[in-house]
Amino acid sequence: MTYRYEQLEQWDKQYVWHPFTQMKTYVEEKPLIIERGEGSYLFDVEGNRYLDGYASLWVNVHGHNDPELNEALHKQVETIAHSTLLGSANVPSILLAKKLVELWPGMAKVFYSDTGAAAVEIALKMAYQYWQNIDPVRYAKKTKFVSLKEAYHGDTVGAVSVGGMELFHRIFQPLLFERIEVPAPYVYRMDEYGSEEEIVRYCLQQLENVLAEQHEYIAAMIVEPLVQGAAGIITHPAGFLKGIETLCRKYGVLLICDEVAVGFGRTGTMFACEQENVLPDIVCLGKGITGGYMPLAATLTTEAIYEAFLGDITENKTFYHGHTYTGNQLSCSVALKNIELMEKRKLVADVERKAKKLAKKLQTLYELPVVGDIRQKGLMVGIEIVKDRRTKETFARVEQFEHRTILEARKRGLIIRPLGPVLTFIPVLAMTDEQLETAVDILFDSIAHMIVQ
Ligand SMILES: *Cc1c(COP(=O)(O)O)cnc(C)c1O
Repeated sequence: MTYRYEQLEQWDKQYVWHPFTQMKTYVEEKPLIIERGEGSYLFDVEGNRYLDGYASLWVNVHGHNDPELNEALHKQVETIAHSTLLGSANVPSILLAKKLVELWPGMAKVFYSDTGAAAVEIALKMAYQYWQNIDPVRYAKKTKFVSLKEAYHGDTVGAVSVGGMELFHRIFQPLLFERIEVPAPYVYRMDEYGSEEEIVRYCLQQLENVLAEQHEYIAAMIVEPLVQGAAGIITHPAGFLKGIETLCRKYGVLLICDEVAVGFGRTGTMFACEQENVLPDIVCLGKGITGGYMPLAATLTTEAIYEAFLGDITENKTFYHGHTYTGNQLSCSVALKNIELMEKRKLVADVERKAKKLAKKLQTLYELPVVGDIRQKGLMVGIEIVKDRRTKETFARVEQFEHRTILEARKRGLIIRPLGPVLTFIPVLAMTDEQLETAVDILFDSIAHMIVQ
């Protein structure tokens, strides 16, 4: 049974509460109702075609409706859809864990969950309990976490606790555990701190001050390696991540790298940490892990962390955490196939190549006076919109300049999303060179249209 657009629109507005959405405004607009996908395109129920310029929220790798991923999923569903990892194992979760560990030098164990936020919760609890398991007296005070200004690690209460985004997180303040904030190198808005190198040096110095003074109270530092996604695609200059790693080691603080957004080829390497040769103690994976097919996340850790959880039953060193769908077979089988296809199709090298071409094309946007800054790492792009290039003042929130711009882009066949004053372009990783060019042309026309209005 297929339904008409008007019927679906009415039921959507009547029954569905959308995430991160002011529903009062939502119901005044014409919702985009997706029906199907094909490669880098999404199609709505009225048959309109759009380039998927947000990779269906940063997850899609090979494109929609990929025959080989479909086949992997079909095969699995005809075998078994789900059994539990609590007290038993299953085939796809074993094979995927082996594959993930092979991909991550230094990592030894995989703990599954089903959303990025859960992977972060697990990392935080694991880091805290690690110290308690080693020596509950000596490390009794290690209860705090350090994270960057404007950090984003998901929306559950623990993940929000280590978050630093005013807009999303302020209201929940009374519910949160203690976090220590350190500055991040947001180069575009830190002119007064000098050059890129000086900004990085300043940020690392601030971190060192915190660690030197409070390391006895700090269990771990959590960071989005290379790019702070939700903060507005804040790309970190080279050396910042390595500097963090060095300081965490120096002061005996665990390093958690949240690769939920940047992992699986997004920044031009399989994982972002590779680019600075950083070996975290704990890694969070999600988003692209299944190629955008199924919900799945994973927290990886080292042999050393894992061993601290081993002991006799009565020692209470067990990690008491687990979700009902942990290690789900459908998710794990399609994730395994996703990684195999990335290798077979040499996708990561292709992302790197396309990113270089895209960087040139993106420069054309600087012809538009409201384009203040273009930031890019691999196929992760943020275009910061300003009212005045000199003062870097942004448009007032009520003007909804960025929201109206993405609606213009939608009319022209491209789906993207804004994050505050930043237009984000996070395409399907397999998007072709021509499609990437078209997307930037649409971006250009949409922003230009907003200016002449
Ligand atoms: C999206 C994201 C998360 C949260 O993942 P969900 O699957 O939405 O829970 C965590 N960390 C980072 C860096 C993210 O981009």
